[in-house]
Amino acid sequence: MQPPTDRDQDQTSAGPTKKVFVKSYGCQMNVYDATRMSDVLAKEGYAETASVEDADLIVLNTCHIREHASEKVFSELGKLRILKQERKASGKDTKIAVAGCVAQAEGAEIIRRQSAVDLVVGPQSYHRFPELLRRADNGGGVVDTDFPVEDKFDFLAEPAPERIRARGVTAFVTVQEGCDKFCTFCVVPYTRGAEVSRPVAQIMKEVERLAASGVREISLLGQNVNAYHGEAPDGSIWSLAKLAEHIVTVHPNIARIRYTTSHPRDMSDDLIAAHRDLPQFMPFLHLPVQSGSDRILAEMNRKHTAADYLRLVERIRKARPDLALSSDFIVGFPGETEAEFRETLKLIEEVTFASSFFFKYSARPGTPASVLDEQLSEEVKVERLARLQELVDSQRHSFNRAMLGRETEVLFEKPGRHPGQIGGKSPWLQAVHVDGPTSLIGEVAKLRIIEVGSNSLRGELLESEVSR
Ligand code: SAM
Ligand code: SF4
Repeated sequence: MQPPTDRDQDQTSAGPTKKVFVKSYGCQMNVYDATRMSDVLAKEGYAETASVEDADLIVLNTCHIREHASEKVFSELGKLRILKQERKASGKDTKIAVAGCVAQAEGAEIIRRQSAVDLVVGPQSYHRFPELLRRADNGGGVVDTDFPVEDKFDFLAEPAPERIRARGVTAFVTVQEGCDKFCTFCVVPYTRGAEVSRPVAQIMKEVERLAASGVREISLLGQNVNAYHGEAPDGSIWSLAKLAEHIVTVHPNIARIRYTTSHPRDMSDDLIAAHRDLPQFMPFLHLPVQSGSDRILAEMNRKHTAADYLRLVERIRKARPDLALSSDFIVGFPGETEAEFRETLKLIEEVTFASSFFFKYSARPGTPASVLDEQLSEEVKVERLARLQELVDSQRHSFNRAMLGRETEVLFEKPGRHPGQIGGKSPWLQAVHVDGPTSLIGEVAKLRIIEVGSNSLRGELLESEVSR
């Protein structure tokens, strides 16, 4: 397979004739993958539709991380089978494709469980979508869950500027995929494979296109994004901090850089220093700790203790005192005692998080934790989750309330819910809306927070002058 040339990129097919509906589950990396799949399919003449009933092709971009997430896919497929039959009765053909981590993990089993599925495609094969669709025309179900030798990023179609503009002024860019950490509860190392960093030049080409089309904020994504170690054109290996610094140096229009998800063990000194030295690095860091109990952390194979995490937080906050943190927590890991759970609550109290995600432990097939004795009952998990949620929510509310009366900068992203309003994000990822003109969308402006709601803040603009 030859990588597409610039001429190929500019050639569009005769105009969209078919419609595709893409539904993404799970993490931001899946959201990013969904846009890349849509771009590939656009070259094949598929226009995106928000109405599943109108779609000639339906893509479910799935998540395998918890049992609930996987099972949702099969219940959705049951509904789609009926839709496919109804469309057939009115003379319309419908193809159903399953992509993402359930596709990777379950492969042909998906078609065995739900024969309405035409195509199963794993995350490393999205560039092959057109060829797979053509093979699916012959019927029988097509499965591609290979880890191909070629790099899909060299073959994925690049979006036209108008498609980038339609997606807004913030964009995701996956820079790293896969994971070598093998936490005992997690399927990612099996579904996404070993850790791979994209080369610097390939990322810069993508960023160039985004910046030229008006993108102002880039979120660098990876299953372990701070483990990034990509090859630069001179053959040297760059860290995430070096990559971020290069992006904002080459593209001064990129006003903000975020990155997610980070592992505590990969918070290197240069990345911490970049939080001090790089004003474009937003002072908000998602740094999952999972548990506050050292025994549970060891059982999880996290390879850090609660004290290691606290020391790390102290170093990061020293470098950037206004940095706010968020985390993922798992409650009810096999064998977790009440005292061990309380150690998690204690750690949350010590750190104080701006927001967090929390999950009941879900046994995943093939992972070491799933075969541990002492799987906890659903009641215990539900009860612990509620207590943890209460604490995390109260910290989130206090963090938001502390914004009242403060001046801050917001990158405006879209019109607000009410006429005359626009909405954007604070540096700490809080949704903020103000009365203001839509001409400010894409600009960073100063404002004062005048109201704090449960899910968003309201501000008033301080100056008509905006920073670019
Ligand atoms: N790489 C990131 C890290 O190490 O923190 C997280 C990636 S994972 C896609 C997102 C989150 O899902 C994890 O941080 C964990 O809290 C949660 N998760 C993963 N496996 C889980 C399981 N079996 N049960 C419950 N939650 C799980
Ligand atoms: Fe999963 Fe652990 Fe890797 Fe995160 S670091 S993706 S939780 S195995």
